[in-house]
Amino acid sequence: MPRDVGFLMLADIVCACERCDAPLGDEHLRLTMESAGGVRHAYECDCGAVTITVADGSGRA
Ligand SMILES: [Zn+2]
Repeated sequence: MPRDVGFLMLADIVCACERCDAPLGDEHLRLTMESAGGVRHAYECDCGAVTITVADGSGRA
């Protein structure tokens, strides 16, 4: 299974903005995409940076 290098590993904790480290929650979720590699969530921080996380699909369907 291909794995993107450079993205934060998704744990049980909430993800953080890759620019300013602000915590990102559901209120920042802008886009959800499903691909062969899993479900991707795009979060837009208040600072304007977009952080994309990749879930392996074993958690949420
Ligand atoms: Zn930010």
